[in-house]
Amino acid sequence: MRTSSSSIRAAELAERAEAAYLGLALGDALGATVEFMTPREIRAQYGVHNEIRGGGWLRLKPGAVTDDTTMSLALGEAILADGGRVEPLSCARAFDAWMRAKPVDIGNTVRRNLVAFRRSGEPVAPPSEHDAGNGAAMRVLPVALATLGQGDDVVRTAVRAQAHVTHNNPDSDAATEFLALAVQDAIGGENLRGVYRRRIRPIVDDKPAFAYRGRRRENPSGWIVETMQAVLQALLDTDSFEDCLVDVVNRGGDADTTGAIAGMLAGALYGRDALPARWLKALDPKMREACAAQARKLVALTSA
Ligand code: MN
Ligand code: MN
Repeated sequence: MRTSSSSIRAAELAERAEAAYLGLALGDALGATVEFMTPREIRAQYGVHNEIRGGGWLRLKPGAVTDDTTMSLALGEAILADGGRVEPLSCARAFDAWMRAKPVDIGNTVRRNLVAFRRSGEPVAPPSEHDAGNGAAMRVLPVALATLGQGDDVVRTAVRAQAHVTHNNPDSDAATEFLALAVQDAIGGENLRGVYRRRIRPIVDDKPAFAYRGRRRENPSGWIVETMQAVLQALLDTDSFEDCLVDVVNRGGDADTTGAIAGMLAGALYGRDALPARWLKALDPKMREACAAQARKLVALTSA
């Protein structure tokens, strides 16, 4: 039996990676119930929404996830098939196949640019100041896991390779690169203070709009700026996985996606044991297993 520090470390990394991926799926499943509701409507219907119960505008079964999780899984499969490389054409083909399988939901920017890819065969969307939705950020986790320990420049390049298939926009890029790097730091053992110092403070210095320094950001739209405001507030105002996710989804708006993004960050930060057992039990078992298995395969690419 190997008991070297590197093998112990690899086991810890794999467990944190799994927690991030399960966190993404849990946030998606929790938030989908209240997507497009206002905080007031959520309070009237649920008090505090803190159980995975399905429903919502998509009429989901309890434990079902949406595009945030299934696009991530499609992207991760493409990365694994390419031996860990993030190739725009492979990503575009994987997203196109995902769209053909009729997902329960799909963002407008994703749909428009995948339809354009079908026509042109060109996997990189043209730069657009309007394509600042959160669709590239919500699915970035497999890139973060596949590029662990490869350095910021490699990570940023890989992040943009997947992002620009549908979202070629500087605000989307900044947020999506930040998420990948922050998740990597947390998987590597940084706590919230460390992630704040290394990643959150620099991103809000660069993009002050990402920090909503006023009242609480409620009803965040699919615009990446509002998504970041809600996620960063929820992350910084809480100190546990469950509190962070309950905080962010009860803001309503694009709650499955804020839940998914907060979930990947908080899962990486707080670890596998912090994920509520009742939520894991409620999550669609096929998705739970797919996320855990893919997380471990992706980190094995770099720790092997
Ligand atoms: Mn969704
Ligand atoms: Mn959404």
